[in-house]
Amino acid sequence: MPFEEGEYASVRERNGMKVGFIGLGIMGKPMALNVQKAGHTVVAYDHHQDRIDAIVAAGGMSAASGREVGEQSDVVITMMQNSPNVESALFDGGGVFEGLSVGKAVIDMSSINPIKSREFAAHLAEKGVDFLDAPVSGGEPKAIDGTIAVMVGGEQSVFDKYEGLLKTMASTVTLVGGVGAGNITKLANQMIVAINIAGISEAYSLAKKAGVDPARVYEAIRSGLAGSVVMDQKSQKIFDGNFDPGFRIELHIKDLQNALDTSHGVNIVAPFTSLAMEIMQSLKAHGHEKDDHSGIAEWYEMVNDLKLQG
Ligand code: NAD
Repeated sequence: MPFEEGEYASVRERNGMKVGFIGLGIMGKPMALNVQKAGHTVVAYDHHQDRIDAIVAAGGMSAASGREVGEQSDVVITMMQNSPNVESALFDGGGVFEGLSVGKAVIDMSSINPIKSREFAAHLAEKGVDFLDAPVSGGEPKAIDGTIAVMVGGEQSVFDKYEGLLKTMASTVTLVGGVGAGNITKLANQMIVAINIAGISEAYSLAKKAGVDPARVYEAIRSGLAGSVVMDQKSQKIFDGNFDPGFRIELHIKDLQNALDTSHGVNIVAPFTSLAMEIMQSLKAHGHEKDDHSGIAEWYEMVNDLKLQG
């Protein structure tokens, strides 16, 4: 949880670390600000200078490259779109890896392919650098409030060292297993959410075509077995026809691709994830990739020639 205004100075004297932060987008910027508020000094880097400037305005430091972030920080947090972004920031020429030294750590909080997390950990270990994969759940509002949920993969001893740092951004921080387990957990979360939104949209479409108001259906069933947090958070958006993100379809496609690759990698079949993926791909083909993932309902509207709006 974030600290109150007056506590900053004393906290910084007590436990301040230099925390590199790369990737200051929708999620990363508020998360970095919460790390800063808790008394650590953030060393900020992003491809967008204005995002670095926002951290400097809050008392942080700027860096001109990933290498500088690695040199100047005790621990480096990354929060980028997908595996290739993280790989490039860490290992390209002028990247973080070049600036790191023994005893430092990288904590990747992006949602990426867990196989890549394991590769990154092995590469960093060659230099005596620790690694945690620590993706998050909860969107921008929770990132701002410091109440995201963090699911962590890594060694217990490394987790113990950085749990306090992660708690400056989160309401819950859970060590799930070894490196990669954080992202496996995140993929499970994303499979369940996507399939859930599709199921809700399909059921509301039935109600609408059969002449029953979907909003009344929601009221009637929300506290029964079919009810869910997804149903509570997404139904009103569907009834309003308001698909402003939220969590963009293009990011969910990325997560489902990683989920399918990982599923096939461990030799399980994931038919419902494949279907949810194809629905989202169809929405992308129709130009809806920037919509909220509750926009899955739009696909049901298209193929059934109906409107779920009240
Ligand atoms: P975003 O696109 O808003 O931000 C990504 C940032 O990373 C950008 O500022 C970009 O400039 C920067 N970046 C990319 N590559 C870089 C590089 N090589 N060097 C320096 N900077 C680089 O993304 P976001 O919405 O903040 O999401 C970040 C991650 O969190 C994703 O993996 C996403 O799936 C996950 N996530 C997002 C949400 C959400 O609601 N947005 C919720 C939970 C998890």
